Amino acid sequence: MSGDEWQNWGFDTRAIHVGQEPDEATGAITVPIHLATTFVQAAPGRHRGFEYARTSNPTRVALERCVAGLEGARHGLAFASGMAAEDALVGMMHPGDHVVLGTDAYGGTFRLIHQVYGERGIEWSAVDLADPDALAGAIRPETRQVWVETPTNPMLAVVDIAAVADIAHASGVDVVVDNTFATPYLQNPLALGADAVVHSSTKYLGGHSDVVGGFVAVNRDDLAERLAFVQNAVGAVPSPFDCYLLLRGVKTLGVRMDRHCDNAQAVAEFLAGHRAVERVLYPGLADHPGHSVAAAQMRGFGGMVSFVHAGGEPAAVAAACATRVFRLAESLGAVESLIEQPSTMTHLSVADSPLAVDPGLVRLSVGIESVDDLLADLDQALARSQ
Ligand code: PLP
Repeated sequence: MSGDEWQNWGFDTRAIHVGQEPDEATGAITVPIHLATTFVQAAPGRHRGFEYARTSNPTRVALERCVAGLEGARHGLAFASGMAAEDALVGMMHPGDHVVLGTDAYGGTFRLIHQVYGERGIEWSAVDLADPDALAGAIRPETRQVWVETPTNPMLAVVDIAAVADIAHASGVDVVVDNTFATPYLQNPLALGADAVVHSSTKYLGGHSDVVGGFVAVNRDDLAERLAFVQNAVGAVPSPFDCYLLLRGVKTLGVRMDRHCDNAQAVAEFLAGHRAVERVLYPGLADHPGHSVAAAQMRGFGGMVSFVHAGGEPAAVAAACATRVFRLAESLGAVESLIEQPSTMTHLSVADSPLAVDPGLVRLSVGIESVDDLLADLDQALARSQ
């Protein structure tokens, strides 16, 4: 591929080819797993682009170019986990700085900002980011970053990224969007005004529940430079094998997401008509409060569905334990369907905080199995939970 030719390619072509030229030495069609920790130099500092594998390695560079290409970003940086990627961004702030996050931010994000960086003098406010007045009111002179998730985990609320960016940028505040739920196939936050996109690539990017990873994509050179410094200086980098697994996963992201979206829509509609269900949270339902914003800024509504069980916490737990195809487990975004109860599982770290989750809430990561089997499984589990 020459120069910027890839920029005109469709998503699936980019996912399969960007950063993934056949190996020059052997012609291998897939990117090799480069395990070398160090690279030979002709003279001190004279090398072929690689010195030491924490700083950079060829398998990681392939992944970084590919996912950056999918996000329409000029720069991409891979990290050892989603939290390591988040840490690189939050760590740019200094004692006395302030960050705004959403009232249902992912529990791990809240824990990082509140417990890890709170001890180091970073302050935070949690607001409903769908409410522009609440956001504008929360921004202080010390505010440096607004952290957006959309759709959110686990409430599936939708935030208007362009509206948040307008408000934040008017005060010189950077906007970070966690694009884990939507993936670059469904949403490109940088094109909507975000300054940085962060991913838990453990989820849809990997897609097979077999690799932990994180990613940051940015257009701004100043952010890229600082992130590359932190990536090398802190060293929370993914192994070459993890990079290979992620490259392999990303190749099928588009086809997987199409099926995730179709199956999730069917599951949401099924649950909406079920008497054991009090409320379904899925942006693809016309009565979801964020439906029109999601329809405008996303290319599909995603594979995550949450619902509130009419029987409250005991019934929610019973349903989560009664499924057979949906497996009771944390995490999300892989080919197999998962079910969990956020208040005691993924979101336990926000208990007793303003981000606490309804104990009757059940979160589904709808996989790509045959949809009839998913619906039948939920039907029998709900029947046994009442
Ligand atoms: N962001 C979101 C929305 C998540 O759901 C998660 C993990 O569940 C993370 C970030 C953290 O990613 P990781 O588990 O890869 O560190």
